[in-house]
Amino acid sequence: MPLIRLTGGRLCDPAAGFSGGVARDLYILNGRIATPRHVNERLNWETIAGRTLDCHDHVIMAGGIDLHTHIGGGKVTLARMLMPESSRHAFLPSTRAAGDAYLRMGYTVAVEPAMLACNARQAHAEMADTPHLDTAAYVLLGNDRLLLELIAEGAPQAKINDYVAFMVTATQAIGVKVVNAGGIDAFKFNARKLDVDTPHPRYGVTPGQIIRRLAEAVHAIGLTHPLHVHCSNLGVPGNIASTLATIRAADGFPIHLAHAQFHCYGGGDGKPFASAAAELVAALREHPNVTIDVGQVMFGQTITISGDTMHQYANFRFARPRKSALVDIECEAGCGAVPFRYRDRQFVHSLQWAIGLELFLMVDDPSRVFLTTDHPNGGPFTSYPHLIRLLSDRSFRQTALAEIEPQAAAASNLSGIDREYSLDEIAVMTRSAPARLLGLRDQGTLADNAVGDVAVYRENSDRQAMFATPRWVVRRGKVFEFDPAATGWVASPSGELHGERESAADDATPKRTHTVRPDWDRGSLSDFIIRHDRIASYSLANLSISDDEMASCLGSEVVVHPLRGARLT
Ligand SMILES: [Zn+2]
Ligand SMILES: [Zn+2]
Repeated sequence: MPLIRLTGGRLCDPAAGFSGGVARDLYILNGRIATPRHVNERLNWETIAGRTLDCHDHVIMAGGIDLHTHIGGGKVTLARMLMPESSRHAFLPSTRAAGDAYLRMGYTVAVEPAMLACNARQAHAEMADTPHLDTAAYVLLGNDRLLLELIAEGAPQAKINDYVAFMVTATQAIGVKVVNAGGIDAFKFNARKLDVDTPHPRYGVTPGQIIRRLAEAVHAIGLTHPLHVHCSNLGVPGNIASTLATIRAADGFPIHLAHAQFHCYGGGDGKPFASAAAELVAALREHPNVTIDVGQVMFGQTITISGDTMHQYANFRFARPRKSALVDIECEAGCGAVPFRYRDRQFVHSLQWAIGLELFLMVDDPSRVFLTTDHPNGGPFTSYPHLIRLLSDRSFRQTALAEIEPQAAAASNLSGIDREYSLDEIAVMTRSAPARLLGLRDQGTLADNAVGDVAVYRENSDRQAMFATPRWVVRRGKVFEFDPAATGWVASPSGELHGERESAADDATPKRTHTVRPDWDRGSLSDFIIRHDRIASYSLANLSISDDEMASCLGSEVVVHPLRGARLT
């Protein structure tokens, strides 16, 4: 089917000049977006075989992009082993259910944010088994002992850059994430807390130094995606101090703060737990190099899965149901899975919910704050339509606010916030801005010649209903049609996933993995191999995954995106 005509729909993509829902025909020719004028120049499109979708009373957006969702890798597997009863629940879907559920919301790209280098093969294989989605991953650095050693001995920045570039390329990543810099390793030396300026008990380097070195390296080697940072002291009252210290530590280099809601708390030291959203928003105004995703908390059962063993150790006594798993991974990393239930009658949980919404609503620029629940940590990604309604419908939000724990409602300034997200702002936050922050130049947009992944939503003032089920999703030249009456892979209020097992998976297009290819000095590599083999549980030489292995063994075709710019000297 070479041509798909979408006629009469309202386009939402301000970044491509389609603001306010302009009515315009859109064509998809051989999987790429083409304007009618452009098509006419080349051929008489009316005579071409194809399909016409009547999009009157519909809103068209590019395919959604989720830049932080835990959908592949060891800790997801660990969570599934810990809670085998949950495979039909939205918070821990199978790979197949996850791919279907994303497609049924109009999403076509998802990024696994915490891929361990030593576990990259499994993470990619699992993502390749997730239908309908293009995927990508950030490789975890910052608790690996070779890097800690290099920083401790004051290695030149060029050497750090080489190491980071090698690790990104070897693991087929698109970016770098640091989780609780140095803290996961410090936990193995019995530290239970590591502040941004506290030296690591063995290596003597501080989290701030690790952030600074990695942020510079990511920038210097030309990655578009800034260093993706999970700050120190996740979930701890008063942790806004660590978050602000992390921003200062980055020293002006671009950083992205993941699940910022969990790092945005006042109180502690005898003072009550409180929102510090205003302080973080003020810091964002002052530091244009910083973006955030929220990690919104949604009420209900979920499971938290994190590379932050130090935090998960502190958290496991709150496990519901009462079981958890923590793993130290030799000299590279760690992780933990702790089931968790967020309750709307509980002060802290309710305030976490409110803090997330405050962040969304107080950051003026929708291209600097991203829609995430840190799936499944704050709640499942299937709750995005509900979350979109909370952001775009003030009275719906006020009704929800009246139902949370009263002291939390009183402690939040949410009732005084009138803002409602427009469709344009939703398109920016979930499409064009994440594409830009990831360096996916031809995705997340309806511009001419972009990848023709689009979602067509029925106009509906109930934004939850609207975004829960698009009428059509076009994915690489294939049209998927959804019936809103069929529940599909959507979460019921009890969190159960309903779906026809026939699913669209059999119809899925070939898998693609988005990557980048920074360069490094081959001379440094031989040194890294020798040193790594001395301290780690596997040989560094075994780490590299070739494009051929990705395609023939792991099941995904590699797409290499251009670097941000010339390499800095
Ligand atoms: Zn994280
Ligand atoms: Zn996360």
